Amino acid sequence: MATATFRFHGELERFVARTHRGRAFDCACARAATIKNAAEALGVPHTEVGRLLVNGEAATLPRIVREGDSIEVFPVEPGAAATEEMPLFLADAHLGGLARLLRMLGFDSLYDNAVHDREIVEIARRERRIVLTRDRELLKCREVMRGCFVHALKAEVQISEVAARYALIRQMRPFTLCLHCNLRLQDVEASVAQQRVPDRVLARYARFMRCPGCERIYWEGSHWERMRTLLSDALDVAIGA
Ligand SMILES: [Zn+2]
Repeated sequence: MATATFRFHGELERFVARTHRGRAFDCACARAATIKNAAEALGVPHTEVGRLLVNGEAATLPRIVREGDSIEVFPVEPGAAATEEMPLFLADAHLGGLARLLRMLGFDSLYDNAVHDREIVEIARRERRIVLTRDRELLKCREVMRGCFVHALKAEVQISEVAARYALIRQMRPFTLCLHCNLRLQDVEASVAQQRVPDRVLARYARFMRCPGCERIYWEGSHWERMRTLLSDALDVAIGA
């Protein structure tokens, strides 16, 4: 056993016991425990850890906890998890609303309410997807390399959390994916849309898109406007088409 002093900062405090919030505390760690092991035993999934300081010096999660260590753990900074290429997401069974909003912004987001945790881990690993979940046990899996604990309960707030963490606003391509199939929409002539949309819509709109999977036709109607307003309000940014 090694007894070390821990201090969790910022939103990481939400994961630890109330008595461990806002202050440093001693914790006896299992023999040869890493900081990852110790943090997760205290409730903090490794995916949520940003900067780490051990005795005032930068450290990483695989570091073994030693007797007398003073360990400070900080959350992932906004934008720190951003990547050059557009990130791919995998939302767990409880986050269908969030997956839909991510698709509206043009981010490839898998979602299936029948998928099991084991499959989530496997698909995320194979396709290099970011796991979005409110299940902290899922994020403790070492195979989950990239994951994000979603704190909020409402999809409109969840989208702003994820957008901040991955700096999504600079990469978004709104209204380019099918909200149902996650497939890229294709522009189609009005004549192709003709059989599937009401005449009043054909008369009023010039641009139509079709999903190659479900063949739904999309156009910039009132539903589109409501989604645009919802996303603009949630992210505090103008959403274009
Ligand atoms: Zn579709």
